[in-house]
Amino acid sequence: SIPLGYFGGIGAASRKGILFKGSNYLDLITQVNTVIFDKTGTLTKGVFSVQQEEAAATADPDWKLLAISLEAKSNHPIALALVKHLGKPTDSVLGLEEHAGQGLSGQVHGKQVLVGNRSLMKAKTIPDLPKTSLPGKTLVYAAVDGEYCGYFALADEIKSDALEAFTELRKLGISETGILSGDRQEIVQTLGKELGADFAYGGLLPDQKSSRLEELKRKSGSKIAFVGDGINDAPALAVADLGIAMGAMGSDLAIETADVVIQTDHPSRVALAVRIGKTTRHIVW
Ligand code: ADP
Ligand code: MG
Repeated sequence: SIPLGYFGGIGAASRKGILFKGSNYLDLITQVNTVIFDKTGTLTKGVFSVQQEEAAATADPDWKLLAISLEAKSNHPIALALVKHLGKPTDSVLGLEEHAGQGLSGQVHGKQVLVGNRSLMKAKTIPDLPKTSLPGKTLVYAAVDGEYCGYFALADEIKSDALEAFTELRKLGISETGILSGDRQEIVQTLGKELGADFAYGGLLPDQKSSRLEELKRKSGSKIAFVGDGINDAPALAVADLGIAMGAMGSDLAIETADVVIQTDHPSRVALAVRIGKTTRHIVW
């Protein structure tokens, strides 16, 4: 049977928008020693703005329209920002493919269009990528019929309570914190330093996030929690000892896969969840 104190803990948590899917997770969260966060949409707002764009001299004159035709079919935060910036096209897309953690491909007006990060361009062997490195910017490249056409530089904003989340977790005795992200290594490392994370790895595909977690699990011997909001986080949420899905707009798959669901956009609620777990344990035992 479930000790009565757990109901108090679960109730207190749910009043703060923290849903434990079972009382066992309230207990498990007190054993967690490492907390790892996804970046985009979890620690940052996931609301990008387009800051800059550049076209290649030889670019197809319609490259932006073609790129945005693919993005109009996606719900990714980057896609929403680009559609807001350029307007919503009505051109139809054939054979749309979503490459999780990389971007999109498909045919528009009989042309093969590719839009996404550098690793997608490299995977599709697009030559002549520019050597740009705008500090702190997420770069989205576009290619048409195998030729590089241009890029957009976007920026996201850190959530106001992200730092609080890290400092509170440390106060609660969490000995290790980290960030795993599909975004550029340089951006992820800068954020990690700003938040005082013990490690921060970027450039990871969804399955690389989960294999990195498995590695950490083997090495640490302690319980690991992973916090994420997107479809691309589902594999990591499943591998973690405790999966925590975040965000009012969190994806259905993330919410389904997680053990704990935070219904607000506040990463500091992760620390609150740990605090409630510890307090409850104190009452129960
Ligand atoms: P995170 O792990 O930080 O939540 P994602 O895995 O969602 O990030 O995305 C990783 C990277 O993949 C993005 O930074 C972007 O470069 C690229 N990407 C993903 N989806 C798209 C898209 N629809 N359009 C362009 N680029 C995309
Ligand atoms: Mg995310």
